[in-house]
Amino acid sequence: MSNFDDLLASVPTGLWIDGKPTDAARSRTFAVENPATGDTLAEVADASAEDALRALDSACRVQREWAATAPRQRAEILRAAWQLVTDRAEDFALLMTVEMGKALAESRSEVAYGAEFLRWFSEEAPRIQGRYTTAPSGNGRILVTKSPVGPCLAITPWNFPLAMGTRKIGPALAAGCTMIVKPAEATPLTMLLLAQVFADAGLPEGVLSVVPTSDAASVSGPLMEDPRLRKVTFTGSTAVGRKLIEQSAHQVLRVSMELGGNAPFVVFDDADLDAAVDGAMAAKMRNGGEACTAANRLIVANAVREEFTARLTARVAAMTVGPGYDEKNQIGPLITAKQRSSVAELVDDAVAAGARVRTGGGPIDGPGYFYQPTVLDDVPVQSRIVAEEIFGPVAAITGFDTEDQAIAAANSTEFGLAAYIYTQSLDRSLRVADALESGMVGVNRGVISDPAAPFGGVKQSGLGSEGGTEGIEEYLETKYVALPL
Ligand code: NAD
Repeated sequence: MSNFDDLLASVPTGLWIDGKPTDAARSRTFAVENPATGDTLAEVADASAEDALRALDSACRVQREWAATAPRQRAEILRAAWQLVTDRAEDFALLMTVEMGKALAESRSEVAYGAEFLRWFSEEAPRIQGRYTTAPSGNGRILVTKSPVGPCLAITPWNFPLAMGTRKIGPALAAGCTMIVKPAEATPLTMLLLAQVFADAGLPEGVLSVVPTSDAASVSGPLMEDPRLRKVTFTGSTAVGRKLIEQSAHQVLRVSMELGGNAPFVVFDDADLDAAVDGAMAAKMRNGGEACTAANRLIVANAVREEFTARLTARVAAMTVGPGYDEKNQIGPLITAKQRSSVAELVDDAVAAGARVRTGGGPIDGPGYFYQPTVLDDVPVQSRIVAEEIFGPVAAITGFDTEDQAIAAANSTEFGLAAYIYTQSLDRSLRVADALESGMVGVNRGVISDPAAPFGGVKQSGLGSEGGTEGIEEYLETKYVALPL
């Protein structure tokens, strides 16, 4: 870990406002923990409401100038930031693994994925389009222009400390918006390092601020009450998203909400089972199961259920668990002791209701917040584990007989983020993809996220899309100018 000590010493730990970190030696700090050991990694400055408003002052001071900066120049800065993150991929990967817990190989994938939002949106910045046309009545002309929404607040979760930030910062900056990021309390270091990278890439002071805090609401509340803020973009739980939607009503803020999920992973009897097991491993165990797109319910045709479950169980039982920075480990710790207890409660509840433990089934003793990779079969559909996000390395399997039953089971949730289907029939894939109430569907694929595709949920999984050509629209206002003929 000696390289890591050098890296850690280079990460800013003060609030990032006006293009630089404030003095980290402040009286108000909070500890960032290594979830693999419970040790404190760093003390980070703890933003107050006054600090947040100072960041907003700074954003407002430069908003007009940033909006007027040539799109090509905004693009060049984003592109330079992509290059710098890519050059420092190992630093970002190690930092994320140590503050969040995921296996190093997964952190490396997240760096590539997260950085790509900066490159993708650097390519979108010069392509913001308007429209000019003759009114159908022949009485006038219609000019439609797009302009940046204005200062934005981004609130991000801990499970993808880099990508959940770049997915918002990339399009906001490309559109000409300024942004204040409130990173998750558990993982502020990655975002502070990213702020440093943006400064190195030439981003003007004030365009991007990062305000870590131990009390999220005390920072987001005053910002959202301030009429100068124009938008809040949030990734996190549905419960918190609901509160933010309510709060955003006061100033009628634009909102983008990427919320919780409860993804069904449906394996039909005509599926290629090798592919389905590979897909289930990725969709379920990636990020230790701490992903909004994680397969929460494995809904498997009864005709192939035992075969699928046996193969999946063998793969899951062979997984190596331990600190993510040890390259031999595939599953790191959960983020906190509380998160581990919540996973344990869901498993215990399902087992008490009759689920069969095929492998795993409990926490791992010792330092850190490890939980055994687990497969549960015969999970009663009324159990909490079927209705709630597990956010842990636990595969919960239920069966079905007909396609209609599978679709009904998949849709029987208030969430609608990702869904996965495995079948070798093209007709069935298209029919079922159409019938699923979710914003994203993977067909014979266990990982679906792509910076060039719109990521977002329906029902209580959210509002709006991130990534793709849709992502930048979330940061643009439409204006209609009526002209004479
Ligand atoms: P969380 O909702 O507890 O926290 C998310 C962020 O909101 C954090 O920065 C937190 O500090 C902040 N926050 C918490 N309470 C707040 C309040 N009252 N006011 C303002 N901010 C507040 O979620 P989490 O535990 O960090 O992340 C896990 C959740 O995020 C899961 O539900 C997961 O599905 C979801 N998620 C969704 C997506 C997506 O794209 N849809 C992606 C990743 C994670």
